[in-house]
Amino acid sequence: MASLHPGAARGWWLREALEADPGEPCPPLARDLTADVVIVGGGYTGLWTAWQLLEQAPDTRIVLLEADIVGGGASGRNGGFLTAWWDALPTLVGRFGAEGGRAIAAAVGEAPAAVGAWTQEHGIDAWFTPRGSILAASSPAQEGGWSGIVAAAEALGEQHRFEALTAAQVRARCASPVLGGGLLVPTDATVQPARLARGLRRVLLSRGVAIHEGTRVVAVRQEGGRVVARTATGARVTASQAVLGINAWAAGWPGGGFGARMITWSSYMVVTEPIPDRLGEIGWTGGESISDLRFTNHYFRTTRDGRIAFGGGGGRAGYGGRLGGWVERDRGSAALAARGFRRIFPMLDDVRLEDAWGGPIDIAPDHLPAFGTLPGGRVHWGHGFSGTGVGPTWLGGRILAALAQGRLDDPVARLGLVGNRPRRFPPEPFRFLGARVIREAIVEAEQRDDQGRYVPPPLRWLVRLPRWMGYELGPE
Ligand SMILES: Cc1cc2nc3c(=O)[nH]c(=O)nc-3n(C[C@H](O)[C@H](O)[C@H](O)COP(=O)(O)OP(=O)(O)OC[C@H]3O[C@@H](n4cnc5c(N)ncnc54)[C@H](O)[C@@H]3O)c2cc1C
Repeated sequence: MASLHPGAARGWWLREALEADPGEPCPPLARDLTADVVIVGGGYTGLWTAWQLLEQAPDTRIVLLEADIVGGGASGRNGGFLTAWWDALPTLVGRFGAEGGRAIAAAVGEAPAAVGAWTQEHGIDAWFTPRGSILAASSPAQEGGWSGIVAAAEALGEQHRFEALTAAQVRARCASPVLGGGLLVPTDATVQPARLARGLRRVLLSRGVAIHEGTRVVAVRQEGGRVVARTATGARVTASQAVLGINAWAAGWPGGGFGARMITWSSYMVVTEPIPDRLGEIGWTGGESISDLRFTNHYFRTTRDGRIAFGGGGGRAGYGGRLGGWVERDRGSAALAARGFRRIFPMLDDVRLEDAWGGPIDIAPDHLPAFGTLPGGRVHWGHGFSGTGVGPTWLGGRILAALAQGRLDDPVARLGLVGNRPRRFPPEPFRFLGARVIREAIVEAEQRDDQGRYVPPPLRWLVRLPRWMGYELGPE
């Protein structure tokens, strides 16, 4: 397995996308600029916000500042599961009530088709594959673990969003000997995630957005009816409104107090060598993505050139707002993903894993993103996608554009995610230590479940501690 050096040698998706189209240069900001809106962060959140701003007001002058390159963060590294949130209905309804929860699920539910249509309209070959996603048991302990989702959907008359699959039906789509029954969401899709991010970059440049890569913003201040974004080199952007789409980096952002409601977490993936014939042998040629029901879930999908990309199995908490370092080189989490791959695909034990990569995600206390506006009214923010942001950031862009344009009566600006203030995490070092201990317990308990081994009561108690404390985290 290749070593992990994200940033120097990028993950497989981003390398593939850059080889296909490096795009025109977007040099670092070298002089002061003025704009209507300055966006910090060149991931999907920032990119979709820029797109939606232009959809509403095509003449908006937008400057987008990205510390790395566009797609250098989670948006160029993720699994590419472009999914709705129908499986999150129990959480959404619990938090926002039946209608509030349904409204959010419906809004995110538009994302897969909308992103697909957008790529087609703009000639972006992001490998959009609308073949559905399967939530499947990967151990007997997980069988039926979807009953709460089905019950919540039935209560809202939304059960048609799912198709129940028996173990035989799941294995007809992907003949892993460990997969059991599950649910199919036929409207979900996959993408090549970095191609989507880089495609957004290309379209935004063609629409006149000024993008500056290699430009880290160190502060955004509201001064005299304007907002000023100051960069590490000293160059500034003065604008009417600012949007922060900085994902896990928000935990260390100066101001906003974002770190109190976020745990930074490492999330990792591996990818095989091309094995199209072997995919044929196991019948996994339909393009469905699959994830299991562990909390540290395994998620896996095929690629256009016949590989399997496989992620999950357990990341680790970062300390406070500190990123970089081991969060960017977490070999242990990559090894857990590799171990999950070997367990679910024992018949592919001779297949080489060609690459591994990952990086930080932004875990929120309620496992849901939040959006808001800082006091002063000119700086808008959105983060907390908790490792499920490919589809939801499309909605996030609509929300943030509405906030920045003052369209507060837009239905998306009225969703419960706007102004969502889940309970805080304990302060450091308790957050880090608690997260570490509970993470070890969850990984151990879920591995025991996978192996059909006894999980002692103290371990079961420990993995449920976050939920008893009021967080939507850890196994149900
Ligand atoms: C390994 C992995 C697998 C995942 N798999 C899936 C999946 O299959 N499906 C799914 O729905 N979600 C998945 N996710 C989560 C998903 O990728 C994210 O939720 C989503 O990409 C978040 O987009 P974003 O724009 O908010 O963040 P990012 O893409 O991280 O963008 C934030 C950007 O802000 C920049 N930045 C930060 N600070 C500054 C600053 N001070 N100045 C300038 N720029 C700054 C960063 O460099 C970064 O590029 C996965 C994530 C990972 C890491």
